[in-house]
Amino acid sequence: MVNKIVIIGAGVVGAASALALQKDGHDVTLIDREAPCSGASFGNAGAIINGSCTPTAMPGVFFDAIKMLSQANSPLSISLSYFHKIMPWLMRFIWQSRSSAAYQNATHLHAISQYAVASWRELTEHSELASLFRETGWLKVYQSEKSFASSTRHSIELFDKMATKYEILNASQIRDLEPNLAPIFNYGIYQKDSLSIVDPQRLVQGMVDLFVNRGGCYKTFSVDTISISNEQVQMSSSDGTLSADQVVIATGAWSRTLAKQLGDNIPLETERGYHLMLPQSTSSLLNRPVVNGENNFVLSPMSAGLRMTSQVEFAGLEAPPNYNKIRKLLPLVEQMLPNIDTREESTWLGFRPSLPDSLPVIGFATRTKRVLYAFGHQHLGMTLGAITGLIITDMLNNKVPRVPIHPYRPNRFNIL
Ligand SMILES: Cc1cc2nc3c(=O)[nH]c(=O)nc-3n(C[C@H](O)[C@H](O)[C@H](O)COP(=O)(O)OP(=O)(O)OC[C@H]3O[C@@H](n4cnc5c(N)ncnc54)[C@H](O)[C@@H]3O)c2cc1C
Repeated sequence: MVNKIVIIGAGVVGAASALALQKDGHDVTLIDREAPCSGASFGNAGAIINGSCTPTAMPGVFFDAIKMLSQANSPLSISLSYFHKIMPWLMRFIWQSRSSAAYQNATHLHAISQYAVASWRELTEHSELASLFRETGWLKVYQSEKSFASSTRHSIELFDKMATKYEILNASQIRDLEPNLAPIFNYGIYQKDSLSIVDPQRLVQGMVDLFVNRGGCYKTFSVDTISISNEQVQMSSSDGTLSADQVVIATGAWSRTLAKQLGDNIPLETERGYHLMLPQSTSSLLNRPVVNGENNFVLSPMSAGLRMTSQVEFAGLEAPPNYNKIRKLLPLVEQMLPNIDTREESTWLGFRPSLPDSLPVIGFATRTKRVLYAFGHQHLGMTLGAITGLIITDMLNNKVPRVPIHPYRPNRFNIL
């Protein structure tokens, strides 16, 4: 058994890892430079998409992206001043969209996401956290047959190959599930065994509280430098110094610089995304998260109101937010849910941590087994948080991980 473990990052991945390791008797300290759940885990759409297996880089993505970039209200944007920085990542991303690579990535994504629901149940059993999950499924709706066919063709092929369960719905089946939706949606795809979280921030904060109540230690601490010396991992910043026998780096989109200090150059970028909260009264309008497939946004009913999430923006970690991108979608929300109260309660920008192949990094640092990486969960961190924590625990218990982790190794891009 490892002596003292420090987990850096109290987002969903760090908090789930802390709970899972503690459950197995480890001495764990969870640290974050801010309050728990200050990163991407705060404001997402809260969907746990069981068996998700569609990587972002699919065949044809290059031409789809060019088309999208020229559209008004495009869900995709690349900041001109960031273009030269994102180019190497984009080249790798396009390379991953070859059919052979996309199929392989889908297989590896499915290998881990098929445990999404079961692992959340395992991690939250016998706690009040279990009540934050609802058995709602995950629904995408379309108005036109053409866009339904072109958007879902690849996903359906992959679902069939991976045996991911789904149903194709017609207009009346959509209305049975969501009676308040305007009768404009004629095609739907429904993954019934997915879950949704009523409040992602409450879930992650609740995990940290549970961890602390069970005797775990939480510290506000920023890690600026990390190194190995005297058989220990040393972390320091103006907050002081910390040392540990074992460290898990779960710092989401901010993980690249820490991994680099340990000698791993990992192509991690951020796909920035936004949310806009509508008044609490709107949350009862939908029974589940609904994706507007034609316009690429999600409406997710949460305890505080309907949450609209959207956008993939490549602009790095420092550029200021542009909330007009999500505000411009409000007329489309009114079209979906007539008479909805679209007064804005709040807006938020979050940083999805993404690799070109849509797979996370889960594995030991190349130079030392004293550091374990757990980041890069892209659009699926809420889905994959619990299973990642359980895999990390297997690894630190010197057990064969329940999901083979070779596809998620940190150095997989070294030869490309
Ligand atoms: C708009 C949007 C919608 C989304 N919807 C969904 C969804 O419906 N379902 C789904 O599965 N996923 C969704 N996601 C993705 C999901 O939110 C992320 O993949 C996930 O939250 C990443 O979790 P994390 O723990 O890796 O990182 P984060 O939640 O970003 O946590 C990282 C933490 O590390 C801390 N940190 C960083 N650097 C340091 C340092 N040097 N020292 C100390 N602490 C540090 C940060 O303060 C932060 O708290 C969505 C994302 C966005 C943006």
